[in-house]
Amino acid sequence: MSAMSEEIDALDRSIINALQRGLPLVPRPYAEAAAALGFDENELLARLRALLDRGVLTRFGPLYQIERAGGRFVLCACHAPAERMEAVIDAINAHPEVAHHYARTHHLNLWFVLAVARAEALILSGGEPLLRPDLYQIAARARELGFHLSLSSNGTLLDAGHAARLAATGFDYVGVSLDGLPATHDRFRRSEGAFTQALAGLRAARAAGLRVGVRMTLTEANATQLPDLVALTEREGIDKFYLSHFNYAGRARSHRAEDARHARTRAALDWLFEHVWQRAQQGHVGDFVTGNNDADGVYLLYWIAQRFPQRVADMRQRLQHWGGNATGVGVANIDNLGNVHPDTMWWHVTLGNVREWPFGEIWASRADPLMAGLASTPRPLQGRCAGCRHRAICNGNTRVRAFALTGNPWAEDPGCYLNDAEIGMEVAT
Ligand code: SF4
Repeated sequence: MSAMSEEIDALDRSIINALQRGLPLVPRPYAEAAAALGFDENELLARLRALLDRGVLTRFGPLYQIERAGGRFVLCACHAPAERMEAVIDAINAHPEVAHHYARTHHLNLWFVLAVARAEALILSGGEPLLRPDLYQIAARARELGFHLSLSSNGTLLDAGHAARLAATGFDYVGVSLDGLPATHDRFRRSEGAFTQALAGLRAARAAGLRVGVRMTLTEANATQLPDLVALTEREGIDKFYLSHFNYAGRARSHRAEDARHARTRAALDWLFEHVWQRAQQGHVGDFVTGNNDADGVYLLYWIAQRFPQRVADMRQRLQHWGGNATGVGVANIDNLGNVHPDTMWWHVTLGNVREWPFGEIWASRADPLMAGLASTPRPLQGRCAGCRHRAICNGNTRVRAFALTGNPWAEDPGCYLNDAEIGMEVAT
C-alpha cells in the first residue's frame, strides 16, 4: 500500500483490513466478502479498482504461504542512492525469490521480502548410510549449515566406533529399525542375527550419548508384537518410538501383502494411544510418533472425542495447523546422485538434479503435474479421499500407495483404515 493514507475513507479502510486477512474460497468470493462488510459485490469491486487506480493499493493478489512450502520469509533492508534507486529495484526484482519491495524514508531506504526455501532438518538414510565412505564429511557440512541432523540405520554396522564418530560429528538423533521381535525381524530382514546386531547398535549409540529411537514398520506379521516391542524400548531407556505404516513403493511394494490389515492397524493405534495416555497419567510422557499414514491424525481426533470431547475443537485446530501429508511440500528427498524426488518413496519421479539447478528452484517449480497437485490446496483427490471431510487434517495421505496400486497418484489411499462414516461419506445402500 502507498503512503497516501489520507485518500482512504472509513469504508476503504474496512475493506483493506478485511481482505488482507484473506478471501473466502467459494465460487463468488467478492460477493461473500462484501456481504460480510455489509454492502454488495459490485461496490466492493469498484472500490478495489479505484484504490488500485489511484495507487493507494499497488497490488491486490495472493501471497503464497511459503512456510507451508517448507520455506521462510526474510525481510531485507538496504541503502540505494536516490539517483540509482530504479536500477537497484530492477536488480532486486530480477530475482524470482523477491516477493515485494517498498521504499522507506531513512538511511536504509529500500526494503524487500525474500521467500526462500529453507530445509530445517536433514535425515541421512539408505539403504544403509553407514556404508557410505563420505558420510561424516556430508554430516559435518550439514552441521556447519545448521541442519538438525539425523541418521536412519538398520543398526547392524552401528558399533562403538561409529557411535563415537556420530556423536562427535553432532548428530541429533539416530533411528534404528526393529520390525518385530527377534525371529520376526530376522525373517523380515532375511538375515539371522539382524535383531541382535540392531539392538547392540542402539545400545552403542546410547552409550555414546546420542538420542536414539526405534522405528517399527507395522505389518501383518508383527502387529501383535507392538506391546512387546514398546516394552523392550522402554526397558532399554530408548528415547523415542516411531510406529511407521507400510508404504507400497520400491522394494516395499513386493511386501504389500504384509501390510497390516485395517482392523489390525486400528487395534494397534488403539493400544498405542491408550498406552501413551497411561504413561502420561503416571508422569512419563515419552516420545511416541506415527508416520506414513496421515489418517492417524483423524483417528486420534476420534479417540479424543470419545474421552475428552471438550478438547476436540482445540485438537482439530492443531491437527489442521500441522496440515497432514507434506510430500512435495515440506519433505524432499535428494538421492546419492543429487536427484531430487518429492519424498523418499517417490524415487521413481525425478524433479531435477542439484548439480545442475539450485535446490530451491527445483523445489519451487510446479512444472511437474505431480508437484503441482501435491502443492495445491486442496489436492486433486479422487475416490473416498475426494469426499472426505477430514482432508484439512490428512491432506490426502500418502499418495504413493494409490499410485503403486492404480497408476493414478490422486486415487483414494488404500492405506486409509477409516470407515465411510468416519470420513463423513454416505454409506452406500
Ligand atoms: S479418506 Fe483420504 S483424505 Fe480422508 S482420512 Fe482417509 S486418506 Fe485421508
